[in-house]
Amino acid sequence: MSLHHSMTREDVVASDREHLWHPFADMGRWEREDPPVIESGEGVWLTDMSGHRMLDGTASLWVNLLGHRRPELDRALRHQSGLIAHSTFLGSTHEGAVLLGEKLLSLSPPGLTRVFYSDNGSTAVEIAMKLAFLATRVRAKKQGDPPPSRFFSLDKGYHGDTLGAVGAGAIDRFHALFGPLVRPSVTTAAPDCAQCPLGLVRPDCDLACAELAVSRIRDYRDELVAVIVEPLLQAAGGMIVWPKGFLSRIAEAARSEGLLLIADEVATGFGRTGTLFACEQEGVIPDLLVVGKALTGGYLPLAATLCTEAIYEAVREDPGTFYHGHSYTANPLACRVALATLEVLEREDLLSTIPEKRRRIEEEWRPLFAHPFVGNVRMIGLVAAFDLCPPPSTSSAPGSMVTLSEWTRQIGEMARKRGLLIRPLGPTLYLIPPLSATVEEVGLMARILCETVKAVLPAPSSP
Ligand SMILES: *Cc1c(COP(=O)(O)O)cnc(C)c1O
Repeated sequence: MSLHHSMTREDVVASDREHLWHPFADMGRWEREDPPVIESGEGVWLTDMSGHRMLDGTASLWVNLLGHRRPELDRALRHQSGLIAHSTFLGSTHEGAVLLGEKLLSLSPPGLTRVFYSDNGSTAVEIAMKLAFLATRVRAKKQGDPPPSRFFSLDKGYHGDTLGAVGAGAIDRFHALFGPLVRPSVTTAAPDCAQCPLGLVRPDCDLACAELAVSRIRDYRDELVAVIVEPLLQAAGGMIVWPKGFLSRIAEAARSEGLLLIADEVATGFGRTGTLFACEQEGVIPDLLVVGKALTGGYLPLAATLCTEAIYEAVREDPGTFYHGHSYTANPLACRVALATLEVLEREDLLSTIPEKRRRIEEEWRPLFAHPFVGNVRMIGLVAAFDLCPPPSTSSAPGSMVTLSEWTRQIGEMARKRGLLIRPLGPTLYLIPPLSATVEEVGLMARILCETVKAVLPAPSSP
């Protein structure tokens, strides 16, 4: 037993198995596993209770921007906890919330003028959906129409796990079971070039998938409140990187059909795709922008829904009060840490360091590009992913799913032993390093993953 603990590592695991329940975990399997028990972190490194160090290859599931135990964030946290940790935002306000609000609006696309805080991405999405509904309802009422009540979203979309967000989502494995509880959105195929919805080979792509989406938006426009998308990158849906032009085409269609556009940048916000917000890359200005995850650099739960003055005005007029709020809305500790996060992100100009880091991943992964069981290598910003493809001889056999999940399990386990913590997403393996990771650290993550994949997959048979 170490100085810091009242429990041994084994005690923690045993008590966890006995009493806790983990998100997105097959608990039958979890009870047999030997999970990492994280004790501390420093920069891009995590240390478990056995003293084993691992690179944080998923940025703690896409939230960490600046590394663990970042002095500026620690300082902001200490400063605020020396004043007050939390007081309600219902009926009072505070400096941290105001400063962060100003900062968010100054960084986000023009036209967004209001910030509504919440404490996770799912609820921030719900808030966007409710606000869009309220604003649209006012317009419909003026015209004497019944209010539209459906959303348009993309297949393989992920907007969170609360029921409204589940209705907008379309990842069968996560969402199908809850179908009876939600109002499903109108969906269209995701622009996933690896599984082109139109069966086109890449050079023939004329973005016909976008036209398909646009015609569906037109067909359903009278029922729709808004179009909700994850711009450029559908992360949870399988790290799907969109072809250029898809986002702006959809945004244009929403605009011309008089529908609101909700950009769910919970995963993509704050530099992940190479620009501060993914929308910027196609000059898209949403009516509602949803942020969360990296907002506090991965320190504390905080999210925000930004909207235009037109939406604010519409809701202010009718119903006047937005009946939505959370106990920890605008938590002062989280606001201060978020503010410090955005300051460091700007001061260190981390966005400009991304291309070099991505090139380094490309170099390290070169041996994988030709591997027969690896395909669809893709990158955007500081997101790099590829898919495992079981050999065609077994891929139609009933055992192929087993092969795949066995491969990803073994790769995850071996990478962890070799000092890299990752989390495979179905057939997809990916790296999402904290933006602050050095070129060397990013290179090391990529090398460990590449070598592990080569070690686990059967060697390509020589011709
Ligand atoms: C993670 C995520 C959410 C949900 O955020 P939580 O904080 O996990 O509730 C919503 N949308 C997108 C695009 C996400 O990646």
